[in-house]
Amino acid sequence: MTRITVLGSTNMDLVAYVTTAPRSGETVTGHEFRTVPGGKGANQAVAAARAGAEVAMIGAVGTDEFGGRLRATLAASGVDIDLLRTTEGPSGTAHIVVDGDGANSIVVIPGANGSVTSLSHADRAVIAEARSLLLQLELPMSAVVEGAEAARRNGVRTILTPAPARPLPPELLAATDLLVPNEHEAATLTGISGDPQRAAEALLAHVPEVVITLGARGCLYASRAQREPVAVLAPPVTAVDTTGAGDVFVGALAVALAEGRPMTDALTWASTAAALSVQRPGAVTSMPYRSEIDG
Ligand code: ATP
Repeated sequence: MTRITVLGSTNMDLVAYVTTAPRSGETVTGHEFRTVPGGKGANQAVAAARAGAEVAMIGAVGTDEFGGRLRATLAASGVDIDLLRTTEGPSGTAHIVVDGDGANSIVVIPGANGSVTSLSHADRAVIAEARSLLLQLELPMSAVVEGAEAARRNGVRTILTPAPARPLPPELLAATDLLVPNEHEAATLTGISGDPQRAAEALLAHVPEVVITLGARGCLYASRAQREPVAVLAPPVTAVDTTGAGDVFVGALAVALAEGRPMTDALTWASTAAALSVQRPGAVTSMPYRSEIDG
């Protein structure tokens, strides 16, 4: 089995379902509330495990009631949680509003994730043993950079989701093999909006390969080694909740690449996985298993 390590966040998603999301200063009545295990790191870990990899998760949960449930959820999907610390205080939480079109807006409060400022010897050893390291920006930047550099030293492919969107330190970009922003993150990083091809080209000045995800429109892949970018369409489906779509996409993409599949096959497989997830509610709860992705 392919080994993948995820260095990232674990959050409890507190999800409110509404017809129309409230504007600033407005109160609306929703029709449903759920607590759903999430966090970009945990989402990608579960997505990759369900897609067929052996996954280890490095991160932290709190000592509150959410911490135990987050651990149990990861373990139930087969994720190795030996290196998931428990730190005194609250777990990370994400406060999510999903509207009638399935679009979401999110506030993340880091909680225990904020305690992961550096890596242990054991963390670095698990990174070194993996085929790929998946990184996002919901842990302190010092740990993200340390993880990326440890992976780079050991020839482990680093796949970075630059979310939440923010400028990236040069040392992180220098240790990133594949950058996977959505359109909004790509615009934040490059200052170019509405032109994914130009944004991808700008990002290639910093990293060798880029995939910009474009929601229902699919994704765009660009690499320094290939002259023309490649567009991969998303399967046409009816979305009920896009929360975690990007994480399912990255988790499945990482598994396919670690198994040695060509990039375009891997992107098509990842798009199938993400399209399955948007047709079901929640983040972790909506993630497809390998047998479903293979269809
Ligand atoms: P999220 O923040 O909701 O997890 P994201 O903004 O990181 O998602 P998107 O670009 O919205 O990422 O979606 C990632 C991938 O998921 C897309 O490239 C596409 O393959 C798939 N996807 C998203 N929305 C849809 C949709 N409505 N129909 C089909 N596929 C979708």
